[in-house]
Parts: sequence; structure tokens; C-alpha cells
Amino acid sequence: MSEASAAPRIALQGVDPPALARALPVLSAREARRVVSALYRRGTSLLDGPIPQVRRAGMAALRERAAVPTLDLVECRASAVDAFEKYLFAAADGAQIESVRIPLARGDRFSVCVSSQVGCALACAFCATGRLGLRRNLEAWEIVEQVRQVRAHLPPETRVHGVVFQGMGEPLANLDRVLAAIRVLSDPSALAIDAKAITVCTSGLPSGIRRLAREAPSVRLGVSIASARSERRRRLMPIDGAHPLAETIDAAVEHAKLTRSAPMFALTLLAGHNDGEEDADALARLVHEFSERAGMRPRLSIIPYNSIGEGDPFARSERAVEDAFRDALAARGVFTHKRYSGGGDIGAACGQLVARGPAGTAGE
Ligand code: SF4
Repeated sequence: MSEASAAPRIALQGVDPPALARALPVLSAREARRVVSALYRRGTSLLDGPIPQVRRAGMAALRERAAVPTLDLVECRASAVDAFEKYLFAAADGAQIESVRIPLARGDRFSVCVSSQVGCALACAFCATGRLGLRRNLEAWEIVEQVRQVRAHLPPETRVHGVVFQGMGEPLANLDRVLAAIRVLSDPSALAIDAKAITVCTSGLPSGIRRLAREAPSVRLGVSIASARSERRRRLMPIDGAHPLAETIDAAVEHAKLTRSAPMFALTLLAGHNDGEEDADALARLVHEFSERAGMRPRLSIIPYNSIGEGDPFARSERAVEDAFRDALAARGVFTHKRYSGGGDIGAACGQLVARGPAGTAGE
């Protein structure tokens, strides 16, 4: 076996043209762009025939050193109540992950909510993925492949407008691969998604937030707050023990100053846990302090809770309680955006992703 064939193959969905040209120097920068662009037209049959204007030596190197691996689409479930669709994929090692196609206000556009890890180590109490523990990080190509496959299933005349890293896993805990995937998603030869339409949502890893600001400054930041009261937040999000909210907010302020874009603060409303007057008061103070320090207001997104299934210790706040919570914030000068968290009937809503197989059995 030659040394070259013993080296791991380059998964073509995981590289943008500059990275491909670095990995296979026989390809010119222009040829690397042609290869990447052809991949998103031809899909997994890319290497079956010649690629126009790629020289023979380049094709030979691609066939020897590169591959177009894929995730098996196990199931695609469409919601009966809205235009959400949930995709269940299986990797070659049996790991299962989920992605969600989210309809946008403009009917011909969708966002894709992608997973960045198989399971998650951070164990947020209100999240189904957090119950699984972490099995492994996803490779960059496995992140891009979710979007490529959802795009391949789109109705005619529609397109993927944005990507949100809010599926299974903590994206900032797999940041090298998430950044590589972002470079591919936003590359004009690949999926050409405007980086401003890509959002990375984190439970709050300060060093990852700072690195994201430096290396992907156009990408938007989302921060899961859960509660602005520290002892409550710590109960809901154990990561607060290692990285208290104040540290995360410091990093978010730096991110806002460096990128000149305001983050989204997301809060899943849980009956009796974070939906009272004192909770609204603490949240309003947090928003005002952030605005003063960063010189811009965060967007505050309130997400109604979706049940995570058996033994669920939480419940959705009553409508009147939710309204009172929003009113209390508004009285303190903080206005909220109500996130429509759809796909609840197919387990595709925020916090529900758990990769259950078609028979309803939990996946790996
Ligand atoms: S909310 Fe995000 S960070 Fe928390 S357990 Fe779920 S996937 Fe992990």
C-alpha cells in the first residue's frame, strides 16, 4: 500500500477551496473552486466522471486521496401543523443525529438547524440532547452534509437562506470543525450562505465566544441564558458552575464590540423556574448592563418550553404567566421577540432533538 493511499481521505464536503488546494497542491486554486462547486451540483457521484476544466493529474489525485462520504438519511418527518421537517441521519459508526428544516417568513426560504455533536456533555436540564451525554464530535463534513442533504430535498424554487447551530451538541465545544464547516457553508463556490445568516448558539463558553469573534466575525452569536439569577441558572445549566453567566456576558460584550453585531439572548420559559417577576427583573438588568457596556441592545428571544418526554420535570408556562413576564420586561424597557418554536408534533422543536429511530427507539 502506498503512503498516499494509507493517509486518511479528504472528505470533500469538509473543505473550502483554499483548504482543498492546500491538501492537494496538484490542484490550482481555480481547479479547487471547480471541484467544490461541482460537488454541490453532482453530489456523491462527483468523482465518477471528469470534472470540467480539472486536469487529469488533479482528477487522479482526487480519486486517490479524496472522497465524498455521506450520512444515511434514516427518516424525514414533516410536521402536520407547520412547514418544519425533521431529518434523522446515521453515520457509518452507527451514531445518529438530527437536523431541522425551518421555514422562514418568506415562503421560498428555509433555515437549517444543524447538530454539531452526537449528544452533548453539558446536560442542560431542559434539553433532551443533554440527557444523552456526549458520544463524539461531528466532523466538519458531517455538519455540512446535513445542510447539503436538506437542500437536496427542498421543493423547487426554494433555497436554504440560513443555518443555525442549535441542534444536538454545544458548537463551541467542537469549534475547529464548526469553523471549518462555516467556511464551507459560506464559500461562494460551495453553499454560498451569507455568513450573517449563520448563527452559532452556545450555552456560554467564553473562550469559544472570543475565538468565534476573531475567526468568524460575520457569524451571529446566540447565548442561552435560562435564568439571569445565578443559583437558578446553575440548577438549569450545570456549565454555569465552570463558566458563570457574568464571564459569558463579558465575552459576549467583547464579541459585540469586535463584530459590531448584537447577540441574541435566548431564554426557554419554564413554569415556576424562571418565569416570575424577580426573574424578569434580573433579566432586564442583565440586558441593560449588556447594552450599556457593548453600546448595542441584544435581541431577546423567549422560547416556549417543549416537553423533553418521559420523566419531564418541567412544564410550559401558562399563557397568562408568559404574558405577565413579557409585560414585566416591557415595563423595564426590554422588548422581547417571541420565537415560534415549531415542529413540536415531530419532536423537532427547540430542546427536543434526541435522535430517536423511526420505531421510536432511542438511537445511539
Ligand atoms: S441546550 Fe445545547 S448545550 Fe445544553 S445540553 Fe442541550 S445541546 Fe447541550
